[in-house]
Amino acid sequence: MSHKVVIIGSGPAGYTAALYTSRADLAPVMYEGLQPGGQLTITTDVENFPGFPEGVIGPDLMERMKQQAARFGTDVRPGYIKSVDFSKRPFVLNDGKNELEADTVIVSTGATARLLGIPGEDHLMGYGVSACATCDAAFFRDVHVAVIGGGDSAMEEADYLTKFASKVSIIHRREEFRASQIMLRRAKDNPKIEFLVNTVTEEMLTHDDKRRLRGLKLRNTVSDEVTEMPIDGCFVAIGHKPNTEIFKGQLEMDEVGYLQVHDGTHTNVEGVFAAGDVADAEYRQAITAAGTGCMAALDAERWLANNKS
Ligand code: NAP
Repeated sequence: MSHKVVIIGSGPAGYTAALYTSRADLAPVMYEGLQPGGQLTITTDVENFPGFPEGVIGPDLMERMKQQAARFGTDVRPGYIKSVDFSKRPFVLNDGKNELEADTVIVSTGATARLLGIPGEDHLMGYGVSACATCDAAFFRDVHVAVIGGGDSAMEEADYLTKFASKVSIIHRREEFRASQIMLRRAKDNPKIEFLVNTVTEEMLTHDDKRRLRGLKLRNTVSDEVTEMPIDGCFVAIGHKPNTEIFKGQLEMDEVGYLQVHDGTHTNVEGVFAAGDVADAEYRQAITAAGTGCMAALDAERWLANNKS
């Protein structure tokens, strides 16, 4: 039996697509993926999702989205899709144990913030360490924070953080910056921003008695000197990686791997739609992901109506 809609990925885009397609009686099947609930499950307070005047905890918001999609009959499955074949119809998806067929597929596999992989980082994520200034900057009012990275994201995040923090230190491993001249200039002209170049972060330090960032262990790559920098917040801004490995050679993507869409959420393969961060290098917000998830559901519904088998 071919499923009318299979949704790959369970962030805000996936759950919104599931809500709309299940309410449209399309009996969607959703694979939750490697990080059920997506990137919001590694944040704490979410204050910029409309409808929650007091804010909402990231994992709680995703649990509510899951319940709402399940209420209308979405078949939410743990596990992830290991390979797809979009060259034939119905499409064939493999979850490692079983193959399933789908008339349409909504890809909402998201993107993963690149992290440093240093001691303390995992433990302190959401407790002083963040990978998203737009999400978390407001929690760092009148304190000193660091931004790690030397690209446009790092400059943008640092600039944004100065609206709240008293001081922002950009820590970059080289002397040259990957950031565009205009973004770099803006950061350099900002009196609240200082630059530490030729500096790598080796460890994120926590208080002995509580789970909260207290500082960074830094090494100067020229002098090899190791120092400890007291800090209240640290934003890792070293880029994102869209989760598109399994679609290589089948779906059109840009040089970084973000899926290319046209006319809303259509990919280059008819009947395959993309929503959320997997196709969005620019906005990357939960609410924009939810919006495109809704669009993908409506696009899939229309496509099914026009292509009855
Ligand atoms: P990026 O351009 O790839 O820059 C990543 C930065 O992180 C680089 O400076 C890199 O250092 C550093 N880095 C990578 N791995 C590291 C590690 N393990 N330890 C320490 N530093 C590390 O990524 P991005 O800044 O996210 O930008 C991605 C794309 O989005 C770019 O095309 C950018 O122009 C665009 N973007 C545009 C805007 C805007 O126009 N408003 C805003 C944000 C992003 P090295 O230079 O030494 O490799």
